[in-house]
Amino acid sequence: MSEFTLIRTHFARLGSVRGDVLLGVGDDCALLRVAPGQELAVSIDTLVAGVHFLADVDPRALGHKCLAVGLSDLAAMGAAPAWATLALTLPMADEAWLRAFAEGFDALAQAHGVALVGGDTTRGPLSIAVQVHGLVPAGQAIRRSGARPGDLVCVSGTLGDAGLALRGLLAGEPVAVSMRARLEQPTPRVALGLALRGLATAMIDVSDGLAADMGHILEESTAECPPGPGQIGAEIRLTDLPLSPSVRAAVAGTQDWSLPLASGDDYELCFTLPADQLANLAALSQRLDCPLTPIGHILARTEGEAGTGLICRGPDGANWAPKRMGFNHFPGPG
Ligand code: ADP
Ligand code: MG
Repeated sequence: MSEFTLIRTHFARLGSVRGDVLLGVGDDCALLRVAPGQELAVSIDTLVAGVHFLADVDPRALGHKCLAVGLSDLAAMGAAPAWATLALTLPMADEAWLRAFAEGFDALAQAHGVALVGGDTTRGPLSIAVQVHGLVPAGQAIRRSGARPGDLVCVSGTLGDAGLALRGLLAGEPVAVSMRARLEQPTPRVALGLALRGLATAMIDVSDGLAADMGHILEESTAECPPGPGQIGAEIRLTDLPLSPSVRAAVAGTQDWSLPLASGDDYELCFTLPADQLANLAALSQRLDCPLTPIGHILARTEGEAGTGLICRGPDGANWAPKRMGFNHFPGPG
């Protein structure tokens, strides 16, 4: 099959039909219309075989996941998903694989009203890059930098499930279907991201582990904080972390909190909220049918204090320091 037949057969019409797509797959560029008063939120993620997924993963799940990780980034900004482009590098054109991959991508794209509007197809070691484009009313995107002392720190869903599933798969142990889905077919929290516009002061999606991703909120919020409170820190209560029964059992056995704090691929949202919004959290959780849990609060730190500013209080009240802070492709100094 030629490159062009492959594109026409599998990728010409994936996802939703949208009125703001003036020209989709087929020309040198897609032409897209951004309505007045809207800002474009753009993010790209690459998934590499052997690094981000096991090479024998179900292609349908992979088609889902490569889009899900991008939608999770849009959710974390409070942006409404609109368009995607897909750069696919394949060792060979395997018809059945391509069909299943396209189906997985299409189902999630349709569910979120996303149109696939272009891409690139090359031969090489299996890798997939998806760029997502979302829309947000001007000035309303939720950044990492808005956390202020006194804000609550909250997290959606449960943490550590994907990490536990990966641990099981790598060890060759049986992994429950639902846990495997948490790793291979994460649910991006798009509706929650949209609902938090005008409510959350800062937000990030938890893709590298809560400790590392909270660290980004603290760093960005410190950089943006007006003079006064000094550095932005946070205190998290480990006993309040939302855990599935399996992760809870794994932690209870070892008192090692690295699963919920430092394993990747959760794709939950971590956000900060003015403390007077606590009462609204339960109603929001019920309306969205999504667990939302307050796990701590933002603090003012003394200027120049060492460390990341994240304190994780264990059951005994002592600070639990994670041995590793989450996944890093280029570990080392700096
Ligand atoms: P060009 O050579 O001008 O970059 P290509 O030959 O790479 O164009 O692609 C032809 C058309 O098909 C373009 O509109 C491109 O966006 C689209 N396309 C290529 N690969 C994919 C893909 N994997 N998914 C979706 N669209 C694709
Ligand atoms: Mg090209």
